[in-house]
Amino acid sequence: MSSPSTAGVVVVGGGQAGFSVVSTLRASGYDGPVTVFAAEPHLPYQRPPLSKKAHTDPVRVELVPESFYRERNIDVRLGDDVIAVDTAARTVTTASGARVPYEHLVLATGAHNRPLPVPGAELDGVHALRSLDDALAIGGALATAREVVVIGGGFIGLELAQVARARGGRVTVVELAGRLLSRAVSSQVEEHLRERHERVGVRILTGTAVRAIEGTERVRRVVTDRGVLPADLVVYGIGAAPRDELARDAGLAVDDGVIVDEQLRSITDPRVFAVGDCARHPNPYADGLVRLESVPNATDQGTLVGRRIAGSPGVPYASLPWFWSDQGDIKLQIAGLRVSSDDVYLATGGSPERLAAYAFRDDRLVAVETLNWPAEHLAARRLLEQDAPVCAADLTGSTLGALTRARRAAGVRG
Ligand SMILES: Cc1cc2nc3c(=O)[nH]c(=O)nc-3n(C[C@H](O)[C@H](O)[C@H](O)COP(=O)(O)OP(=O)(O)OC[C@H]3O[C@@H](n4cnc5c(N)ncnc54)[C@H](O)[C@@H]3O)c2cc1C
Repeated sequence: MSSPSTAGVVVVGGGQAGFSVVSTLRASGYDGPVTVFAAEPHLPYQRPPLSKKAHTDPVRVELVPESFYRERNIDVRLGDDVIAVDTAARTVTTASGARVPYEHLVLATGAHNRPLPVPGAELDGVHALRSLDDALAIGGALATAREVVVIGGGFIGLELAQVARARGGRVTVVELAGRLLSRAVSSQVEEHLRERHERVGVRILTGTAVRAIEGTERVRRVVTDRGVLPADLVVYGIGAAPRDELARDAGLAVDDGVIVDEQLRSITDPRVFAVGDCARHPNPYADGLVRLESVPNATDQGTLVGRRIAGSPGVPYASLPWFWSDQGDIKLQIAGLRVSSDDVYLATGGSPERLAAYAFRDDRLVAVETLNWPAEHLAARRLLEQDAPVCAADLTGSTLGALTRARRAAGVRG
């Protein structure tokens, strides 16, 4: 355990990664001052349920109750943004005027939604979805919305499309790219996903540009380059950008995220760490630096930094990237990182309701996407984490689950 000075640890951002840092600090025996500045008025909460269930009860998404922080002497300052960092004086300044010293600073500021650059985006009834307050507003609007237009066929848009459909709305997803989830999943998995969305009545328009949103007091229609869609609720999710302005203004190296080393320290100032959506980090599963937007990444990075500050020896961040998305009754899970040039092979394990897409680079398994097949996803994570090589021939007529069992029976690692 380290012997902290009174300056202690300041965490900027009370989200998934910030929570992981402070809970790990205390679990690892750190007993110095710990302060979290959280711009939002809510205790740290989970974002995934916001688009999967459109929750209207804040308490149900809180990561832990308020007593957790009180019992561990973690000072959570809600609704107080950090507006400046002085790395020379080692202080942060907040919107309320507080100036707080730090021994270690952790930036966990997350990402923000890219704004929708079309006329009418400011009309009533047009929503982005990132925060609990956004979800509360959308949840209320869904109760009466009949014509829902989702702009952006990414994870959040597709999840929300299913929620809106389940509540009886007519739902159209408008996507500018030629296909859904174009950066995130292989074209093979996209085809299956699209078919399943359409099967439950979600209309999908790919290769379609939104030109304007129209209405007088509130939204009435969405004008696209392929026609006009009636709308009484519009939700858009057209990508996110890291919240790295604070770091940039403080003179820290930033390039689409705060640039950190393998121990997640700023490459400019080793007393400053960055974790979660805002951090661009070296990852052994990526080619160079990468910025990931996922709960496992935020949690694992927060854990690593919390342990490090509490006195554990520095170890490189090496967690396997993985992700999930629940779209109605479809569970998509991704292990590893794929690039578009990888070779992709499919398996269904004999069931039409499930699918696995195995991505190979130089005949080595690098990523696996599964639909409604959690066991295969887990097998993929185990094999990729163990760096147990799998080539395409290993999977001919087989699955990772079967391969793992066969290797175990033969006493082979993996
Ligand atoms: C609707 C939705 C659904 C998602 N679903 C999934 C999913 O199914 N699976 C998955 O793996 N991931 C999912 N994600 C992504 C996942 O939630 C994020 O990757 C994760 O929350 C990142 O954690 P973070 O702490 O880096 O950022 P966040 O959780 O976004 O927290 C950052 C916090 O910092 C605050 N902040 C920013 N600047 C300041 C400042 N200057 N001062 C004080 N506070 C500041 C922000 O207000 C925010 O509350 C989803 C995200 C969204 C929005």
